[in-house]
Amino acid sequence: MTKHSLHSLLLMACCALAPSCSAQNEPSNDEPAATDSTTTVNKSEAEWREELPHMACFVLREKGTERAFSGEYWDLHEKGTYQCAGCGLALFDSDHKFESGTGWPSFFKPAEGSAIVEKEDDSWGMRRVEVTCSACGGHLGHVFEDGPRPTGLRYCINSAALQFVADSTAVQGVRYD
Ligand SMILES: [Zn+2]
Repeated sequence: MTKHSLHSLLLMACCALAPSCSAQNEPSNDEPAATDSTTTVNKSEAEWREELPHMACFVLREKGTERAFSGEYWDLHEKGTYQCAGCGLALFDSDHKFESGTGWPSFFKPAEGSAIVEKEDDSWGMRRVEVTCSACGGHLGHVFEDGPRPTGLRYCINSAALQFVADSTAVQGVRYD
């Protein structure tokens, strides 16, 4: 085997790692998933459009914002984990959710420090800090400094960017970190 074809194979194996939000609709005839723990999910925008529901795609891939009080999770009080709707990475925990009155799910801290990426966002004439998923790069929402104690932070997240998994149905033994 040439060096070049080995490289191609490795690339294909990496792509096969990406968990899909609509995996149940696809034949699973890909190579077996590698056990490598890298969580970087790379898909083309066309693939995302095909796989994600309209609102999730609008938020995650186009940095859209759902209307306040329109999402699935702003008023949810169940115990569980909020995962990225794009790639399944655990992002927020119900223990850190609070009533912000904004109409968007709000958390005072992420489930794990490394699960999200924060970067400055100057769009719409405002200086805000954008929050994205560290694994797939999907846009989640913004973080503001007017949250409750102990962090003083308010992660204002779109429901459409999240997938809630109640504690009772959480899959045991699956780790995304
Ligand atoms: Zn993600």
